[in-house]
Amino acid sequence: MEQQRPLRRIVVKVGTSTLTRETGSLNLHNMERLARVLSDLEGMGHQMVLVSSGAIGIGTKKLRLPERPTQLRMKQAAAAVGQCMMMHVYDKFFSEYNRTVAQILLTGEDVDAPVRSEHLRNTFESLLELGVIPVVNENDSVSSAEIETGKCKVLGDNDTLSAMVARLCGADLLILLSDIDGLYDADPRTHRSARLIHHVQAITPELEAAAGGAGTWRGTGGMTTKLHAAQLCLESGIDMVIANGNNMEAVYGIVAGQDVGTRFSARRG
Ligand code: GLU
Repeated sequence: MEQQRPLRRIVVKVGTSTLTRETGSLNLHNMERLARVLSDLEGMGHQMVLVSSGAIGIGTKKLRLPERPTQLRMKQAAAAVGQCMMMHVYDKFFSEYNRTVAQILLTGEDVDAPVRSEHLRNTFESLLELGVIPVVNENDSVSSAEIETGKCKVLGDNDTLSAMVARLCGADLLILLSDIDGLYDADPRTHRSARLIHHVQAITPELEAAAGGAGTWRGTGGMTTKLHAAQLCLESGIDMVIANGNNMEAVYGIVAGQDVGTRFSARRG
């Protein structure tokens, strides 16, 4: 294990598959553990930022819609409802550990626009200075950057968004918690010999090929978007780890520099 540099600021991103059950109900077990682990890490002296998906899925359930909407405007409406409920639950769980959360909704355009990104940076700085844990999601109800694909994802992906947030905040580490243990060298569902790649120093065409095409074993958000996020992090000298969100306790090991999931780091080796 490599000598860890002190990690001041850590961004943790969780996907819908970690936060909800297959029935669409909240995964209260994972949400509670997430709040506990992040609160504990904050207590250990780290500044924590949470990037959370789940708004559309949670809104779909809350509105009792028969299935996740396909129309963009209905997805945006579901996100508005689900975001509200999600923050309510986070507020409740984090309050149990005496932590204060704040909601930040943004779009890629906000991060790219110089004045708006400056405001965002100042807001993050002030919240972290105050010991608050910002909870970030894409502002799905106003976001215009995303285009209906008719396939899997309609709104933007929070993998890329979380890397943008990590850069904006000057984070030392980004942890992507998904429904997959990390990046494999082949599809683990069809290749029994598929091996987890523990460390990546550069995104190569071979790795991109290993990430697979649509409809393969990738995590819900897609391994391709995770590699894109990793590229953004590598360019900025930020370590990034992909790990399974169903083992929340593993986040301690990741922060301690242990070999959990797949770590993208330019510094090692
Ligand atoms: N922003 C979307 C939501 O909260 C999810 C985006 C993603 O899963 O990457 O539902």
